[in-house]
Amino acid sequence: MPGHAEPRSAYLHVPFCAHRCGYCNFAVIAGREDLAGDYVRAIEAELASLGRPRPVETLYFGGGTPTRLPLELLERLCQVTRGWFPPEPGCEWTVEANPVDVTQDLLAVLVSCGVNRLSLGGQSFQPGKLSLLERDHDAGQIARAVDLCQEHGLECSLDLIFAAPGETLRAWRGDVDQAIATGAGHVSTYGLTFEKGAAFWSRLVGGDLAEVDEDLQREMYLAAIDGLCEAGFEHYEVSNFARPGRRSRHNQVYWSGAGWYAAGPGAARYVDGVRETNHQSTTTYLRRVLAGESPVAFREELTAEQEAREQLVFGLRRIEGVERSEFAERTGFSIDQLAAGQVDRFCELGLLEDTKDRLRLTREGLLISDALWPEFL
Ligand code: SF4
Repeated sequence: MPGHAEPRSAYLHVPFCAHRCGYCNFAVIAGREDLAGDYVRAIEAELASLGRPRPVETLYFGGGTPTRLPLELLERLCQVTRGWFPPEPGCEWTVEANPVDVTQDLLAVLVSCGVNRLSLGGQSFQPGKLSLLERDHDAGQIARAVDLCQEHGLECSLDLIFAAPGETLRAWRGDVDQAIATGAGHVSTYGLTFEKGAAFWSRLVGGDLAEVDEDLQREMYLAAIDGLCEAGFEHYEVSNFARPGRRSRHNQVYWSGAGWYAAGPGAARYVDGVRETNHQSTTTYLRRVLAGESPVAFREELTAEQEAREQLVFGLRRIEGVERSEFAERTGFSIDQLAAGQVDRFCELGLLEDTKDRLRLTREGLLISDALWPEFL
């Protein structure tokens, strides 16, 4: 693999949530805002290990729910972050937010710190589905949050979940239409998954919840693609849609194979060909960092070939696919060297399209893309 450039992006994980939603198995801690002060001190300590400031072109605060932090601590976190990751002119700085937390005061603080994009965990506009997902907002609060972003000049992205138990295609289409109607510039759609460790997993095993039929899930995904594209969105990655000029630059860093810094419980970084993940548990993370110990729980140095294979998968998740000569130049491997057999097989099955210059998923391939990736790794 040709040399690694210094990362130009950073991710901060903020683990606090009011309540752990039934479908969630992320690194979050619910109802423990009493730890927020320690958390910000720990982030300061973790970032100090960078040794010198690293200018960035994209910043992302994810969670958890960054907007659960008391305002003065969120402001402090932004200031600390700016110190270690000075934003370059034009830097995209995204903060994930819960619609109920979006107020004039919150946005005024975020804008004054340099944040210019909010990613809203909207998930749905249907009261029954929101309640099933254990979310604490309603449709009106999502629309108001998007309006407030627009008033404050912030870009806005909306996350939507489809295939909640009992959901119909018609109801899902309604969610897509309402998301479009808010005027948000970016939409991400995810099929609900039942993950071990989440309450929904036990409810599925216990027969209290049932998964939506696979064919209906496919129809829902296609309905999102068609509805959003007809409304002028570009489908640019398996799960992501943007109005022209509004793609997430931070996510594109992950998909392009460039590295990024990261801090916080459970945060994963990729720097100089090395992947590291911090301890998932917020309390373990705090204890270690505040005692001057490393928060890293997992470290893996990728071989040049592993790295190239991962970049192939991330590249194929993008709708434009992978350009063969650019991929070879960037990774030092040709696609045929890595996966000629798989490419031939998936092309024959109509899941990939090979123009010889470029390889990309077909519409059929998009529908089952997650099942293809292990074959390339
Ligand atoms: S708000 Fe998001 S991160 Fe927090 S528990 Fe719910 S799904 Fe998980």
